This record gives sequence, C-alpha cells and structure tokens, in this order.
Amino acid sequence: MTREPAHLSIPSLLPAPKIDGAQRVLVIQPHYDDADIAAGGTLAALADAGASIRYCTVLDDLVGVIDETLSDEAAAAALLRDQRAAAPIIGVSELTHLGFPDAGNWSRFDVRPHLFREIREFRPDVIFTADPWLRVEAHRDHWEVGSVAAEAAILFGIPKLPSSSASVDAAWRSAPPFDVRAVVFFYTDEPNTFYPIDGTWARKAAAVSEYGAQFSQEELPQLVATLDAKAVQVARVGVEAGHLTVGTTRAEALKAVDPRALHGAR
Ligand SMILES: [Zn+2]
Repeated sequence: MTREPAHLSIPSLLPAPKIDGAQRVLVIQPHYDDADIAAGGTLAALADAGASIRYCTVLDDLVGVIDETLSDEAAAAALLRDQRAAAPIIGVSELTHLGFPDAGNWSRFDVRPHLFREIREFRPDVIFTADPWLRVEAHRDHWEVGSVAAEAAILFGIPKLPSSSASVDAAWRSAPPFDVRAVVFFYTDEPNTFYPIDGTWARKAAAVSEYGAQFSQEELPQLVATLDAKAVQVARVGVEAGHLTVGTTRAEALKAVDPRALHGAR
C-alpha cells in the first residue's frame, strides 16, 4: 500500500519582522484613502513612536469622486483637501502623488521608476502597501500597485534600473546604502501581525471621516462603523490566537515580510 506524501509545513528561516521601531515608513497606496482605512491605527501608533511617514499615492483617484459635476481639477483639489486634513490626524508628514489614471490603463513599468525614486529619496526602513496576493481582489489598481511596490522594494538597490529622477539617483549612489527591513501588506488575508489600535482608533476614525470627496455624509459613519466592527473582530481573533494581550479590543491585521522572502528565500 502506498501512501500519499504528506504536505509538510516547513517553517520559514525569515521570521516576520517587527513593525515597532520603524523609523521611516513609506506607504505606497493605490488610492488616497487606502492606508488610513486599512492601517491608519497602526501608522498613527508608529508616528507617535517617532516614525517619519510619507504616503505615496499612485492613482489619481478621480473615478472615486462621487460628485460627478466637478471638473477633474476640482475633484483633484477635493481629494487633496481630504488627504491633507487626514494626514496630521494620523501623523503623516509627507504626501506625494504619481497621478496615474484611476481604474485605467497604466503600466507597472511606468510606475516602477517613480517608486525607485520614492525609495531612493525617502530611504525607508519599512514599506507599507496593499497585499497583491489577496485571494479575492477584483480591483486591479490594488493588486497591481501592491505587486509593483513589492517588486520595487527588492529591486531599488540595483543601479542598472534607473529611477524617474537622475538627480535622486546621483544622490543615492553617493550616499551610504540602506536596507528596507520590512514590507508590510495591508488588505491581507494572510496576517502574521496583529497590531493593537485601542490607543489610536479614535484618530483612525477621524482621519477616515475626512474623505468626503469619495463617501457621502451618510456613508462615512457607516464606513467607520464597519471598520470598528472589523477592528473588534481582528482583536478577538488576535487575542484568541495569543498574538495580542488579553484586553485588547481593537486591532489591525497585517502581513509583515522580510524583503528577502519576497524573492524565493524562506
Ligand atoms: Zn483603493
């Protein structure tokens, strides 16, 4: 009698990096509101602990603006107003925008040099982005941005790949090298990190409530209520699994990965 080979789970030699202690956090997000919605409580806690945080928003987000009477210029201004109002609530100090067409025809090869520029200029030790390997995600902007951000995190150190800025590349070549020690994926269904946000939930709720260009005044409280329910659920699961201390009532679920594990190493 032959036996089916067992599917053995082989532990990684590269444990999940710790998020705490992040010094410079570069958030590469598809749309203006994604990081605040998915990881705003964690990012606020990192800011409180002294991290400098930059949001790089890849898409112009114009499709998401609910007032169809606005010109593109007025819609872009409304999006920026919202994001600029939310940023100090979380503790985000820099906002950059790549302006690729929301839900449109853009190429990762056009985006990638801009991400090399962002990384070489900002010199993050931790990068946050959307999980491109989420099993169910229909919006291409989300998985493609997460994918090209993850790729940029492992390829930015290769001088043969130029960024979108020759001056940034020249400065980067003459500066001491630096390491990105963690890529942290939000919107994930494979969390390995449960981050408690009891202390920052109110600020996350306030920041998300600024996104009035994309959500009506009726929708915003519903969105906050949904995020609240999710934070409570994540905390319950995290406590039960021993990832969080008993008494934690709200948390965010994240996947923190050593960049070496993004290219075959485990
Ligand atoms: Zn989005």
